[in-house]
Order: sequence, then C-alpha cells, then structure tokens
Amino acid sequence: MSKKVLLLPGDGIGPEIVAQAVKVLDVLKSNHGLDIEMTEGLVGGAGYDAAGHPLPEATMQAAKEADAILLGAVGGYKWEALDISVRPEKGLLGLRSGLQLFANLRPAFLYPQLADASTLKPEVVSGLDILIVRELTGGIYFGQPRGIRTLDSGERQGYNTYVYSESEIKRIGHVAFQAAMKRNKKVCSVDKANVLEVTELWREVMTGLAKEYPEVELSHMYVDNAAMQLVRNPKQFDVVVTGNMFGDILSDEASMLTGSIGMLPSASLDANNKGMYEPSHGSAPDIAGKNLANPLATILSAAMMLRYSLGREDLALKVESAVSEVLDQGLRTGDIYSEGMTKVSTSEMGQAVVNVLAK
Ligand code: NAD
Repeated sequence: MSKKVLLLPGDGIGPEIVAQAVKVLDVLKSNHGLDIEMTEGLVGGAGYDAAGHPLPEATMQAAKEADAILLGAVGGYKWEALDISVRPEKGLLGLRSGLQLFANLRPAFLYPQLADASTLKPEVVSGLDILIVRELTGGIYFGQPRGIRTLDSGERQGYNTYVYSESEIKRIGHVAFQAAMKRNKKVCSVDKANVLEVTELWREVMTGLAKEYPEVELSHMYVDNAAMQLVRNPKQFDVVVTGNMFGDILSDEASMLTGSIGMLPSASLDANNKGMYEPSHGSAPDIAGKNLANPLATILSAAMMLRYSLGREDLALKVESAVSEVLDQGLRTGDIYSEGMTKVSTSEMGQAVVNVLAK
C-alpha cells in the first residue's frame, strides 16, 4: 500500500527547496519503485495568511494521517510583529508536540568535497560525522508554569520551568543508544548536572540505561564544556544526546562546523518512526524567491525520510550518493561556492541530483 507523504513547503525559501525534493521523490517513484502518495498543506506564515493560524486544523489532520511529513521552513519578516501565539514557529512547535515527535536527529556530516567551506581548520573537521539527538517535546520549551508576571513590587518577572520525567529521559536515551549501535558505539550525554537538578536526574537515568547497551561507551559532559569541545575537537563525538534547549543550541553550533547550514538535514521522530523531516536551516528570507537557496539539505532530509519512515534504506543511500556525485561534478549553490567550481541555482542543483538518479 502507498505510504502517505505530506509536503509542507512553508515560507521563504521553503517552496523552492521542497520543489527540488519533490522532483527527487518523483524520479524515485518512476524509476525505483517508490510507492508514495504526496499531498500538500499550509504551515507557518503561509498557514496564517490563508487560514488565520500557523497550524491550520486541516494541516494538523493531514499530518496525523500521513506516514511522513517533509517540511521546508517557516517564518519571515512579514510575520515578526504577530502575537507569539500565532507566529509561524508556533506551527512547527504544534506539529512536534501534537504528533509527539520527541526525537530530533541532526547529523553534522562534512562532505570531503566541502572541507574548505568550514571556518575551522581542515584537520579539525575533515572526516567529521556527528549525530546530535535532541529531546524535542519536553524540557524548558514546554514546561509549566511559564509566563511573565507582575510582582508585588510592580516589577515584571519572566519565568519558565525546566522539567523532565524519567520516562521522557529514557525514551530519548534509547534513541541515542540505538543510533550509536549502528555507528561508532559512543554516546556523550550533555547536561548541567552541577547546577540543575533536572539534569542531575538526566545523568542518573542515562547512566542506568547504559547498562542495557554494554557495547556502547557512555560519557557525560557539561553543556558549557560541550560547546567548547565542539569547536576544539569535534571529532571526539559520535552521538551526542541532550535535552531540548541545549540541543537547540549545540545542533546549530555543530551544523556550522560543516561550513554550510544549507547541507544539513534533520528528522523528528515519534515512538513508531513516523517523522517530520526538514532542513536544519530557516526560511532565509534574504534570498527567498531568487532561486539561490541550496536545496541539498531538503533533499537529504527526504533521504532521511526514506530511511526512517518509508523503510527504503536502499533509496536513502542512492539519494545520498547522488548528492555526493553532484558535489564531485563541481556544482555549488552560492552558500558553498568556492573558486573553480560551477555556480548553480536552486533548481539546477535539484535537477542535477535528479539526473544522477535517472541514469
Ligand atoms: P536562516 O537559517 O533562515 O538563515 C541564516 C543565513 O543562512 C541566511 O543568510 C540565509 O540566507 C542562509 N541560508 C539558510 N538556508 C540556506 C540555504 N538553504 N541555502 C543558502 N543559504 C541559506 O536563519 P535566520 O535568518 O535566523 O532566520 C530566518 C527566518 O527563519 C526567521 O523567521 C526564523 O524564525 C526562521 N527559522 C525557521 C526555522 C525552521 O523553519 N525550522 C529554523 C530557524 C529559523
């Protein structure tokens, strides 16, 4: 039976980059026996403009019915003045929490062809291959109570709650250990156990879980040190597992080690491997509509979708190797361009990947 894929192009460069991933999925349908049905929905600013909400009811319904979701990006200058309850980012948060997508997987992988794109020395980053596993539906971004209150003194005070239950820590821990089993068998759990009780529990639970994975070497690191180690000696890491807020920050830092955020995919999975797949970057309003954006992060997100939600590891590998081949051909969008290479547009880059897959 066909699997259902919901496309949510979103805002800014979203529609341009998702269109390239759709071309890739279409060629896999016609040439490689991929059996999927694709439908499209509105999210983010596009959802707000059309239906008054960044996550329209119809989109949420379609997302619940889908086996996988491929999202472009949300947000842009146009919606910045809106009330926080209807800002484009609320569409993303609503999908993540509504679908219980608790595990965010963000690889930071350096393509050897792009070693020069990193701001770090090639010897520090060459061969870099880190997987950041970030808890996505708990922690301080969702904890209650939260708000801004007025104290008796008349001064306003903002407050949030950092909370994790044992079961939440265990389920993200399992994802990290299982991922490590398929990689280099190392997990580094990042916390701030010296200051925050919630992460003291995090450390305790991770340590307990490690007994179920005797082949995996578990280490612990405080988040401030992890931020430093990621730029000092990033190759010491294999899988990094951490909570929502620390993961948000560290995964962006890790992505920049590779030089271009335009190359990095991500997956957000529920307990049954249903997932939402999206590039790690935002909606890049500065280059939107100009056919300049790098579509490879989105195409690689589609590859992760083939791997985790559509059960087609074989096709995921084909797409990843097609991306590597177009880089070998010297094709570069502006963000990864260096002298001597051929500068291409968003659609030309997408077409180049399609051409490799159509061979
Ligand atoms: P951004 O990632 O959109 O852009 C940062 C810089 O990287 C920009 O110069 C942009 O042109 C460039 N860039 C990003 N993606 C690129 C690509 N594929 N190819 C080439 N260059 C690329 O981050 P930002 O500027 O901080 O945020 C812009 C908007 O995106 C904001 O509204 C923000 O809220 C939103 N945002 C959305 C998501 C998401 O949808 N998941 C994530 C982050 C930011």
